[in-house]
Amino acid sequence: MSAVLPDWEFKSQDGIERYEYSPDPRLRMIFLTRRGGVSRGDYESLNLSFDVGDKTYHVEENYTRVRQALQLPAILTVKQTHSDTVLPIAYERTPPELLEGDACFTDCTGLGLGLKVADCLPVYIYASDMRCVGIAHCGWRGTAARLAEKTARLMSRRFSVPLPDLRFSLGPCICPNCYLVGDDVRDRFDDDFPAAHKFFSPVTTAKGNTRYGLDIRAANRWLLREMGLVEVRSLGLCTRETTSLFYSVRRGKTTGRNLAVIALRSAPPA
Ligand SMILES: [Zn+2]
Repeated sequence: MSAVLPDWEFKSQDGIERYEYSPDPRLRMIFLTRRGGVSRGDYESLNLSFDVGDKTYHVEENYTRVRQALQLPAILTVKQTHSDTVLPIAYERTPPELLEGDACFTDCTGLGLGLKVADCLPVYIYASDMRCVGIAHCGWRGTAARLAEKTARLMSRRFSVPLPDLRFSLGPCICPNCYLVGDDVRDRFDDDFPAAHKFFSPVTTAKGNTRYGLDIRAANRWLLREMGLVEVRSLGLCTRETTSLFYSVRRGKTTGRNLAVIALRSAPPA
């Protein structure tokens, strides 16, 4: 057996560029870049959110291209509200517009669970025997609410997977140098997040105010490792700094959303 771990690969198909990681042939974890779509202006070009002011027919065309390039006919997204709601997805025909939440999980094969992000951290979770997959939307609110932990616990319970048999990977997100927050955000962590101080680095601004660089990646990593989950490769890129590949709400208020996808692969035809 090779000792070399597989890593996230940069792939391009019909102009659609993405990072993809498949530590097992039955599993796909994907992070789409902003390249290869038809959206214009601030949304250029592969915006995958209908809720940010972009033209609907552009977003629809982007989804068509993505499904084709990924050869993944069904990608389910839900209305994200920075909540701590976790949705079990039992079958692909669930009308997505009726679902509100910020994490979901499934044991359906051939169904991509999609999460729209621009600076927030997508946390990919799966069972080591590929019994189920899940994904969680962790900005500061989701992180403070321990959404990744909640998702993992629900997956563990629903599918009888011991927590140490769950794996996780972290996608691109805003880095602590780019993500300065105030006391209001810090205070929200103090009640439920005993190790919070580790993830806030004080910075004095030019005006003499104290702000904090928040490391949402480190916070979620700490949370999941405390529970016994095992981290596989993560993709440590900063969305705000990597202008050509990613949308960032901290770079510009009017912007698109990248899509993070996790999917169990359908069995190949016999
Ligand atoms: Zn950064």
